[in-house]
Amino acid sequence: MGLKIYNVLGREKQEFQPLEPGRVGMYVCGPTVYDHAHIGHAKAYVSFDVVVRYLRYRGYDVLYVQNITDVGHLTDTESGEDKILRKAAQLQARPMQIVETYTRSYFEDMDALGVLRPDISPRASAHIPEQIKMIEQLLAKGHAYVVNGSVYFDVTTAPGYGKLSNRRIEEQAAGTREVVRDEKRHPEDFALWKRADPEHILRWDSPWGEGFPGWHIECSAMARKYLGPTFDIHGGGVDNIFPHNESEIAQSECANDAEFARYWMLVGSLLVPGPDGNPVKMSKSLGNFLTIKDALKLHRPEVIRTFILSAHYSNPIVYSPEGLAAAAAGWERLYSPVRLARQMLANAPATDDGSAILPRLEAARADFISVMDDDFNTPRALAVLQELTRDVNALLNSSAAVGRPALEAIEATYRELGGGVLGIIPAAEAMGSDGQREAGLVELLVSLRAEARKKKDYATSDRIRDELARLGVLLEDRPDGTVWRLQ
Ligand SMILES: [Zn+2]
Repeated sequence: MGLKIYNVLGREKQEFQPLEPGRVGMYVCGPTVYDHAHIGHAKAYVSFDVVVRYLRYRGYDVLYVQNITDVGHLTDTESGEDKILRKAAQLQARPMQIVETYTRSYFEDMDALGVLRPDISPRASAHIPEQIKMIEQLLAKGHAYVVNGSVYFDVTTAPGYGKLSNRRIEEQAAGTREVVRDEKRHPEDFALWKRADPEHILRWDSPWGEGFPGWHIECSAMARKYLGPTFDIHGGGVDNIFPHNESEIAQSECANDAEFARYWMLVGSLLVPGPDGNPVKMSKSLGNFLTIKDALKLHRPEVIRTFILSAHYSNPIVYSPEGLAAAAAGWERLYSPVRLARQMLANAPATDDGSAILPRLEAARADFISVMDDDFNTPRALAVLQELTRDVNALLNSSAAVGRPALEAIEATYRELGGGVLGIIPAAEAMGSDGQREAGLVELLVSLRAEARKKKDYATSDRIRDELARLGVLLEDRPDGTVWRLQ
């Protein structure tokens, strides 16, 4: 049984068969860099991070491309202001300063969340010639037309238009603004190239005069440049299925005369409780907007990841303090055996005591792979690790003097599945400086307490134990020494 992916194109779970055995080309729509990323972005990019990590874990050679949208994303798909220009005007900054500031901010946030960097992060503004070339090809093939210096895609010439979002052309006209309708042949046609008004700052020369590209064409052009006309997986957020993803398919397939992405994976939204308790999208006006930077002040990155992964990537999730508290408790439970095994290793005998756990670890690995093979089912993968943790804790908390081989295998299994694939177990060497410092301080106090006890200074030793307990660090005296865990 191999990997299965729910393909939004076709709406069914399909066996994953890459174009080239062993290799995966993957494109994910990246952020529009006009503000700090919010936790909705964290859901999307943590989800795809785990997809990429798992594909690599299963032995695929993955080429992961995720663009940076730094031009062309209008507040309204066809008219309205450019998001970046609007922010530049607000802050009285140059548009490319805005782009640079928030591109850096985005990568900072992703690094902090343990999201591995894409192999290629192409910027739309650095690929204008590729976009112009694709527009010229669409014009030459009769899929586009020029009006007053703008170029529009004629959706009636794209046979499969609507196949991803399951919309018929008549339904697509709704939501298109009246302002530019008279310029287009059909209200549902979309812009490939926009004529720049005199006050528009971001502008490039083109065969149709000075202007700027539409948002959709950038993804088509950059995907083709780095992954070829046909590639394996295209990812994005469910909100962008229409018009963005649908338009990408239409342009690419018409320009290339080839299938575009073979598997479409769309991530469900992150919602927040609304004023009446029902989940709503985050918005600054409702005051429920949370940036990743602010979320990281409240929770450690592994907890945010655990929260996100506790829902299937394709489902929505509601961000709430209770949800995060549950994720924190779940994460602590999962991480505790790693911490405990590590501490016990210091004094462990080289015997094979406790090695009965080895087949249990093997079984957990097999279960983990089988649920992840089922369309990256991370909630079930977390459940597999939780069940394993129950058995591992039973062993570690028993009176057995567990030997080194068993302890090492326990630690390695958690690091491989929880660390390498899910990114929720910090690697020993890469543990955040705060985590390391915290662990070092606790261990220092534990050793001072051991010295106090040796000197029969029970007042000091009890005080250390009680004060640590008040801070949520619980000590447990065992025949082989004192171990600690976070409450
Ligand atoms: Zn895109």
